[in-house]
Amino acid sequence: MNEFELIRRYFTRPAGDADVLVGIGDDAAVLGTSPRLAVTVDTLVETVHFPLRTAADAVGHRALAVNLSDIAAMGARPRWCLLALTLPEGEPAWLEAFAGGFHALAERYGVALVGGNLTHGPLSVTVTVLGAFADGAPLTRSGGRAGDDVYVTGTLGDGAGGLALLRDGGEAADGEAGRALIERFLRPVPRVEAGVALAGVASAAIDVSDGLGADLEHLCTASGCGADVDVERVPLSAELAAAFAPEAALARALAGGDDYELCFSAAPGDGERVEAAMRSAGTPVTRIGTLTEGSGIVWRRGGERVDLPTEGYLHF
Ligand code: ADP
Ligand code: MG
Repeated sequence: MNEFELIRRYFTRPAGDADVLVGIGDDAAVLGTSPRLAVTVDTLVETVHFPLRTAADAVGHRALAVNLSDIAAMGARPRWCLLALTLPEGEPAWLEAFAGGFHALAERYGVALVGGNLTHGPLSVTVTVLGAFADGAPLTRSGGRAGDDVYVTGTLGDGAGGLALLRDGGEAADGEAGRALIERFLRPVPRVEAGVALAGVASAAIDVSDGLGADLEHLCTASGCGADVDVERVPLSAELAAAFAPEAALARALAGGDDYELCFSAAPGDGERVEAAMRSAGTPVTRIGTLTEGSGIVWRRGGERVDLPTEGYLHF
């Protein structure tokens, strides 16, 4: 069983509570308190989510960033967080740097650390984030309809490219492009403003944490449709193109993960509202395809179907 089958079998139960507006299966749960709250938790484990001896400030930044990204994907504004930290040793220099990375990002988005837990053991960081909705409806994975346009923010593949360079080292990792990609992996910038701006504009959204292929597939499954994507429109950074051959760069963009961009759909008549929302958020956006009747993603190049490796990261 993969992780999603495990979650479905062992942990998904009918909520039976009218205040659980969105339960298991989306980027965050939504609770019908006033204001409505989006709630999410993610754990980062050394050697699984980041290499051994990763700079402590990057670990702190990343642990918060991946959770802010899930809240953004729901169209909520992150407000509060809890930090559960398991540490092999209470070394002040490490903690100072870790806390520096964590708090700098929290302050940038006005998120207050309100609690947590500290234990001894192999390094692992668990962050819970709560976000509040202004008034619009939550931006779920399930609101997409056949005919909607599919968009992504920013560029894809940089995080996975950076991780590969961090692991393999060498000349490419030392160049300017390589260092930018590694930075993008270590300190991803969550699309907080874009997520808030898309509430009430996009029909469905997900953050790209496991790779475009895997995450768009989740959005399609939840929305009960398929997608048609033009791979030539998938936005790649100049840095990724400089550090990798074209096919390798595209593979990182489709299957790589760790981008923390948003992938979303919007009704075809809402193109201008999408553009305006992204301008107000200061976020680059690209239309890459459409949602279709049926299921599964069809990748195209110059109109022709192409088979590409797009399976995302699975823990089990
Ligand atoms: P994301 O990549 O957006 O963080 P995940 O792939 O981690 O989402 O999880 C998919 C869905 O399953 C989410 O709604 C998450 O809250 C839920 N989930 C994951 N693990 C568990 C668990 N152990 N118990 C209950 N729900 C879970
Ligand atoms: Mg997510």
